[in-house]
Amino acid sequence: TTAPVTVAVTGAAGQIGYSLLPRIASGAMLGPDTPVRLRLLEVPAARAAAEGVAMELDDCAFGLLAGVEVGDDAATAFEGADVALLVGSRPRTRGMERKDLIAANGAIFTAQGRALADHADDDVRVVVVGNPANTNALIAATHAAGLPARHFSALTRLDHNRAVAQLARRAGVPVTAVRGVTVWGNHSATQYPDLGAATVAGRPAPEVVGDPSEGTGWVAGTFVPAVQQRGAAIIEARGASSAASAASAVVDHVRDWFLGTPEGTWTSMAVVSDGAYGVPEGLVCSFPVTTRGGEWEVVPGLRLDAAARAGLERSVAELEAEREAVRALGLL
Ligand code: NDP
Repeated sequence: TTAPVTVAVTGAAGQIGYSLLPRIASGAMLGPDTPVRLRLLEVPAARAAAEGVAMELDDCAFGLLAGVEVGDDAATAFEGADVALLVGSRPRTRGMERKDLIAANGAIFTAQGRALADHADDDVRVVVVGNPANTNALIAATHAAGLPARHFSALTRLDHNRAVAQLARRAGVPVTAVRGVTVWGNHSATQYPDLGAATVAGRPAPEVVGDPSEGTGWVAGTFVPAVQQRGAAIIEARGASSAASAASAVVDHVRDWFLGTPEGTWTSMAVVSDGAYGVPEGLVCSFPVTTRGGEWEVVPGLRLDAAARAGLERSVAELEAEREAVRALGLL
């Protein structure tokens, strides 16, 4: 058997954490042969609740779970971590302005970036889930001196999975028949889910959904807004934000990052731009990527139609505005 992989999860007592931790401990994220050691990080006020989650993990008697530790100190939680899932973040509360939100999270992700650099394994892979996820990832990567920025990412896999599911449902096929979907931009309502290169059972997706002319029918009128607004629709229906699906997306993101995207397709992941597709260098932006062994490559050479190009530009403008707000606070 292999040595246990150490996985640190922040915001462990939150609702995503509650759905995520059993999936990791069951082997869904790193495979059925890899034991995991979990480190649950919470703020002091939620520490007792995290202890309760750890008790439930014990009670699941997972064969792959090599240990669970709970704490409120980032240095301890990140010590030797191979994977860090930064789920916890400060939610926007009533009367809070955007800049207050960025300031509150800026402080958290500055400290966590430093703690990762000082304590995590040099080869750690980091996934930021807590919002504003892309910008929080940028802050953490910037303050993690010595750790490669390529090893930081933000989660857009839930948006990607939503897009795949909507397309499959429309086409009346299983999700496994869908390939080549991309989510571009920020993990926010400005993201652009793009079917331009997608296929359904090998046929071009726009043709299959009866919308071959760029951006006029089902794609622009129904699909794009449905994916962009899906989070709000879940809150409306459930009375709480998506948790099981967000957790499942984290599992997919990390599994594919390490074990590889399937042959002949790609996934979406927010990573540090090297200027690909005209996205300014250094922004953490969602791209189409292939992955394997903890590395990623942006899929080159995709043709963006006018709607996709405009959507990406709008989302990139939002990412630039967030980066400016963070700079103005002296956090970059
Ligand atoms: P959730 O577990 O529901 O969500 C956690 C974060 O994930 C939020 O920022 C949320 O953003 C974000 N998120 C990103 N993508 C999605 C998505 N697609 N769907 C839903 N959420 C998404 O939040 P809870 O409030 O239940 O739990 C957060 C926990 O984090 C709390 O227990 C808190 O104590 C802890 N925390 C820990 C910190 C630390 O360890 N240092 C720091 C701050 C908080 P959004 O708010 O926009 O929905």
